[in-house]
Amino acid sequence: MNDKGPALFLQAVERRYHQGETTLEILSEAEFAVWPGQSVALIGPSGAGKSTLLHVAGLLEHPDGGEVFIEGVPTSTLSDGERTRIRRTEIGFVYQFHHLLGEFSALENVVLPQMIRGLPRSEAQRRAGDLLSYLGLKDRLHHRPAELSGGEQQRVAIARAVANAPRILLADEPTGNLDPRTSEHVFGTLAQLVRASGLAAVVATHNMDLAQRMDRRVTLRDGQVVEME
Ligand code: ADP
Repeated sequence: MNDKGPALFLQAVERRYHQGETTLEILSEAEFAVWPGQSVALIGPSGAGKSTLLHVAGLLEHPDGGEVFIEGVPTSTLSDGERTRIRRTEIGFVYQFHHLLGEFSALENVVLPQMIRGLPRSEAQRRAGDLLSYLGLKDRLHHRPAELSGGEQQRVAIARAVANAPRILLADEPTGNLDPRTSEHVFGTLAQLVRASGLAAVVATHNMDLAQRMDRRVTLRDGQVVEME
Protein backbone atom coordinates (compact mmCIF):
# COMPACT_ATOMS: atom_id res chain seq x y z
CA MET A 1 0.00 0.00 0.00
CA ASN A 2 1.15 3.48 -0.79
CA ASP A 3 0.67 5.82 2.16
CA LYS A 4 -0.36 8.60 -0.20
CA GLY A 5 -3.52 6.63 -0.85
CA PRO A 6 -4.98 5.50 -4.15
CA ALA A 7 -4.82 7.72 -7.23
CA LEU A 8 -8.24 6.36 -8.19
CA PHE A 9 -10.86 5.05 -5.80
CA LEU A 10 -14.38 3.94 -6.67
CA GLN A 11 -16.53 3.58 -3.57
CA ALA A 12 -19.84 1.69 -3.73
CA VAL A 13 -20.33 2.86 -7.32
CA GLU A 14 -23.64 2.16 -9.04
CA ARG A 15 -24.30 2.37 -12.76
CA ARG A 16 -27.36 1.05 -14.48
CA TYR A 17 -28.97 1.47 -17.85
CA HIS A 18 -32.69 1.29 -18.47
CA GLN A 19 -33.82 -0.48 -21.60
CA GLY A 20 -37.57 -0.57 -21.98
CA GLU A 21 -38.91 -2.64 -19.10
CA THR A 22 -35.56 -4.00 -18.00
CA THR A 23 -32.74 -2.45 -16.03
CA LEU A 24 -29.15 -3.46 -16.69
CA GLU A 25 -27.10 -3.32 -13.48
CA ILE A 26 -23.61 -2.75 -14.85
CA LEU A 27 -21.93 -1.58 -11.63
CA SER A 28 -23.44 -2.47 -8.29
CA GLU A 29 -21.68 -1.37 -5.08
CA ALA A 30 -18.42 -1.58 -7.03
CA GLU A 31 -15.23 -0.89 -5.07
CA PHE A 32 -11.94 -0.38 -6.87
CA ALA A 33 -8.69 1.27 -5.83
CA VAL A 34 -5.60 1.83 -7.97
CA TRP A 35 -2.36 3.09 -6.47
CA PRO A 36 0.30 5.28 -8.09
CA GLY A 37 2.77 3.28 -10.17
CA GLN A 38 0.34 0.39 -10.54
CA SER A 39 -1.02 -1.05 -13.78
CA VAL A 40 -4.29 -2.96 -13.62
CA ALA A 41 -5.80 -5.04 -16.40
CA LEU A 42 -9.59 -4.87 -16.47
CA ILE A 43 -10.59 -8.14 -18.09
CA GLY A 44 -13.94 -9.27 -19.38
CA PRO A 45 -15.80 -10.18 -22.53
CA SER A 46 -17.52 -7.61 -24.69
CA GLY A 47 -20.56 -6.20 -22.90
CA ALA A 48 -19.20 -6.92 -19.40
CA GLY A 49 -19.11 -3.24 -18.50
CA LYS A 50 -15.43 -2.38 -18.94
CA SER A 51 -16.06 0.82 -20.90
CA THR A 52 -18.75 1.86 -18.44
CA LEU A 53 -16.30 1.49 -15.56
CA LEU A 54 -13.65 3.49 -17.42
CA HIS A 55 -16.14 6.23 -18.31
CA VAL A 56 -17.26 6.54 -14.69
CA ALA A 57 -13.65 6.46 -13.43
CA GLY A 58 -12.65 9.05 -16.04
CA LEU A 59 -15.50 11.40 -15.06
CA LEU A 60 -17.07 11.08 -18.51
CA GLU A 61 -20.25 9.63 -16.99
CA HIS A 62 -21.88 10.23 -13.62
CA PRO A 63 -22.45 7.12 -11.52
CA ASP A 64 -26.01 6.53 -10.29
CA GLY A 65 -24.64 6.16 -6.78
CA GLY A 66 -21.42 5.99 -4.81
CA GLU A 67 -18.36 8.15 -5.13
CA VAL A 68 -15.36 8.45 -7.42
CA PHE A 69 -12.23 9.82 -5.72
CA ILE A 70 -9.47 11.21 -7.92
CA GLU A 71 -6.27 11.70 -5.92
CA GLY A 72 -8.41 11.61 -2.79
CA VAL A 73 -10.85 14.27 -4.01
CA PRO A 74 -14.53 13.22 -4.08
CA THR A 75 -15.96 14.23 -7.47
CA SER A 76 -19.73 13.71 -7.20
CA THR A 77 -20.53 17.18 -5.92
CA LEU A 78 -18.15 19.06 -8.21
CA SER A 79 -19.43 21.33 -10.96
CA ASP A 80 -19.13 20.21 -14.58
CA GLY A 81 -16.32 22.75 -15.01
CA GLU A 82 -14.37 21.29 -12.10
CA ARG A 83 -14.87 17.76 -13.38
CA THR A 84 -13.62 18.82 -16.80
CA ARG A 85 -10.58 20.47 -15.23
CA ILE A 86 -9.73 17.31 -13.25
CA ARG A 87 -10.29 15.18 -16.35
CA ARG A 88 -7.93 17.36 -18.38
CA THR A 89 -5.17 17.62 -15.80
CA GLU A 90 -5.29 14.33 -13.89
CA ILE A 91 -6.52 11.78 -16.41
CA GLY A 92 -5.16 10.54 -19.75
CA PHE A 93 -7.20 8.40 -22.14
CA VAL A 94 -6.15 5.89 -24.78
CA TYR A 95 -8.78 4.38 -27.05
CA GLN A 96 -8.86 1.38 -29.35
CA PHE A 97 -8.45 3.64 -32.36
CA HIS A 98 -5.75 6.20 -31.82
CA HIS A 99 -7.55 9.36 -33.07
CA LEU A 100 -4.25 11.03 -33.91
CA LEU A 101 -4.36 14.14 -36.07
CA GLY A 102 -3.47 12.91 -39.55
CA GLU A 103 -1.96 16.11 -40.87
CA PHE A 104 0.48 16.46 -37.96
CA SER A 105 3.68 14.55 -37.18
CA ALA A 106 4.02 12.17 -34.24
CA LEU A 107 5.94 14.89 -32.39
CA GLU A 108 3.32 17.57 -33.06
CA ASN A 109 0.54 15.24 -31.94
CA VAL A 110 2.24 15.05 -28.55
CA VAL A 111 3.24 18.74 -28.51
CA LEU A 112 -0.27 20.10 -29.16
CA PRO A 113 -2.05 19.04 -25.96
CA GLN A 114 0.81 20.50 -23.95
CA MET A 115 0.61 23.83 -25.76
CA ILE A 116 -3.16 23.90 -25.29
CA ARG A 117 -2.38 23.60 -21.59
CA GLY A 118 -0.06 26.60 -21.82
CA LEU A 119 3.42 25.12 -22.09
CA PRO A 120 5.86 27.00 -24.35
CA ARG A 121 6.48 25.22 -27.66
CA SER A 122 10.17 24.55 -26.95
CA GLU A 123 9.44 22.86 -23.63
CA ALA A 124 6.53 20.88 -25.12
CA GLN A 125 8.78 19.73 -27.96
CA ARG A 126 11.52 18.62 -25.61
CA ARG A 127 9.08 16.65 -23.50
CA ALA A 128 7.36 15.13 -26.56
CA GLY A 129 10.74 14.08 -27.96
CA ASP A 130 11.75 12.50 -24.65
CA LEU A 131 8.46 10.64 -24.29
CA LEU A 132 8.40 9.32 -27.85
CA SER A 133 12.03 8.24 -27.56
CA TYR A 134 11.23 6.46 -24.31
CA LEU A 135 8.45 4.62 -26.13
CA GLY A 136 10.91 3.54 -28.84
CA LEU A 137 9.93 6.10 -31.49
CA LYS A 138 13.10 8.21 -31.59
CA ASP A 139 13.41 7.71 -35.35
CA ARG A 140 9.74 8.33 -36.07
CA LEU A 141 9.27 11.82 -34.59
CA HIS A 142 8.51 13.50 -37.92
CA HIS A 143 6.39 10.75 -39.43
CA ARG A 144 2.69 11.36 -39.87
CA PRO A 145 0.28 8.75 -38.46
CA ALA A 146 -0.31 7.23 -41.93
CA GLU A 147 3.45 6.62 -42.21
CA LEU A 148 3.51 4.65 -38.94
CA SER A 149 2.55 1.04 -38.18
CA GLY A 150 -0.49 0.32 -35.99
CA GLY A 151 1.71 -0.37 -32.97
CA GLU A 152 3.67 2.83 -33.52
CA GLN A 153 0.46 4.83 -33.82
CA GLN A 154 -0.77 3.42 -30.51
CA ARG A 155 2.53 4.29 -28.83
CA VAL A 156 2.13 7.88 -30.08
CA ALA A 157 -1.41 7.85 -28.64
CA ILE A 158 0.01 6.69 -25.30
CA ALA A 159 2.64 9.46 -25.38
CA ARG A 160 -0.09 11.99 -26.14
CA ALA A 161 -2.25 10.68 -23.28
CA VAL A 162 0.55 11.13 -20.75
CA ALA A 163 2.08 14.31 -22.24
CA ASN A 164 0.47 16.53 -19.63
CA ALA A 165 1.65 14.26 -16.81
CA PRO A 166 -1.75 12.98 -15.63
CA ARG A 167 -1.90 10.87 -12.46
CA ILE A 168 -4.25 8.31 -13.99
CA LEU A 169 -4.20 6.59 -17.38
CA LEU A 170 -7.34 4.87 -18.64
CA ALA A 171 -7.07 2.72 -21.75
CA ASP A 172 -9.99 0.99 -23.48
CA GLU A 173 -8.84 -2.01 -25.53
CA PRO A 174 -5.77 -0.05 -26.69
CA THR A 175 -4.47 -2.95 -28.78
CA GLY A 176 -7.84 -4.23 -29.94
CA ASN A 177 -6.98 -3.79 -33.60
CA LEU A 178 -3.32 -4.87 -33.48
CA ASP A 179 -1.67 -8.23 -34.12
CA PRO A 180 -0.63 -10.30 -31.05
CA ARG A 181 3.10 -9.53 -31.16
CA THR A 182 2.57 -5.80 -31.59
CA SER A 183 -0.06 -5.84 -28.84
CA GLU A 184 2.37 -7.51 -26.48
CA HIS A 185 5.00 -4.89 -27.23
CA VAL A 186 2.56 -2.01 -26.67
CA PHE A 187 1.39 -3.56 -23.37
CA GLY A 188 4.98 -4.11 -22.24
CA THR A 189 5.90 -0.51 -23.04
CA LEU A 190 2.82 0.76 -21.24
CA ALA A 191 3.56 -1.26 -18.08
CA GLN A 192 7.15 0.01 -18.09
CA LEU A 193 6.03 3.63 -18.49
CA VAL A 194 3.53 3.28 -15.65
CA ARG A 195 6.15 1.95 -13.24
CA ALA A 196 8.70 4.60 -14.21
CA SER A 197 6.29 7.54 -14.04
CA GLY A 198 4.27 6.61 -10.95
CA LEU A 199 1.03 6.77 -12.93
CA ALA A 200 -1.94 4.63 -12.00
CA ALA A 201 -3.24 2.80 -15.07
CA VAL A 202 -6.36 0.79 -15.84
CA VAL A 203 -6.31 -1.04 -19.15
CA ALA A 204 -9.42 -2.81 -20.41
CA THR A 205 -8.77 -5.91 -22.46
CA HIS A 206 -10.35 -9.27 -23.21
CA ASN A 207 -6.91 -10.79 -23.71
CA MET A 208 -5.64 -12.75 -20.71
CA ASP A 209 -2.11 -13.10 -22.09
CA LEU A 210 -1.73 -9.34 -22.37
CA ALA A 211 -3.20 -8.90 -18.91
CA GLN A 212 -0.29 -10.90 -17.51
CA ARG A 213 1.94 -7.95 -18.37
CA MET A 214 0.14 -5.76 -15.83
CA ASP A 215 0.66 -5.67 -12.05
CA ARG A 216 -2.91 -6.68 -11.19
CA ARG A 217 -5.86 -8.27 -12.93
CA VAL A 218 -9.48 -7.57 -12.10
CA THR A 219 -12.77 -8.51 -13.70
CA LEU A 220 -16.44 -7.54 -13.33
CA ARG A 221 -18.76 -10.02 -11.67
CA ASP A 222 -22.38 -9.20 -10.74
CA GLY A 223 -21.54 -5.53 -11.04
CA GLN A 224 -18.56 -5.75 -8.72
CA VAL A 225 -14.85 -5.42 -9.38
CA VAL A 226 -13.14 -8.64 -8.30
CA GLU A 227 -9.45 -9.49 -8.19
CA MET A 228 -8.35 -12.42 -10.36
CA GLU A 229 -5.83 -15.26 -9.56
P1 ADP B 1 -17.62 -3.53 -22.48
O1 ADP B 1 -16.79 -2.29 -22.53
O2 ADP B 1 -17.13 -4.53 -21.45
O3 ADP B 1 -17.80 -4.16 -23.81
P2 ADP B 1 -19.83 -1.72 -21.94
O4 ADP B 1 -19.48 -1.00 -20.68
O5 ADP B 1 -19.63 -0.99 -23.21
O6 ADP B 1 -19.09 -3.13 -21.96
O7 ADP B 1 -21.36 -2.14 -21.86
C1 ADP B 1 -21.90 -2.91 -20.79
C2 ADP B 1 -23.36 -3.17 -21.05
O8 ADP B 1 -24.10 -1.97 -20.89
C3 ADP B 1 -23.68 -3.69 -22.43
O9 ADP B 1 -24.66 -4.69 -22.32
C4 ADP B 1 -24.20 -2.48 -23.15
O10 ADP B 1 -25.14 -2.84 -24.13
C5 ADP B 1 -24.86 -1.69 -22.04
N1 ADP B 1 -24.77 -0.23 -22.30
C6 ADP B 1 -23.65 0.50 -22.40
N2 ADP B 1 -23.93 1.79 -22.61
C7 ADP B 1 -25.29 1.89 -22.63
C8 ADP B 1 -26.22 2.98 -22.79
N3 ADP B 1 -25.79 4.22 -22.97
N4 ADP B 1 -27.53 2.68 -22.75
C9 ADP B 1 -27.97 1.41 -22.55
N5 ADP B 1 -27.15 0.37 -22.38
C10 ADP B 1 -25.83 0.58 -22.42
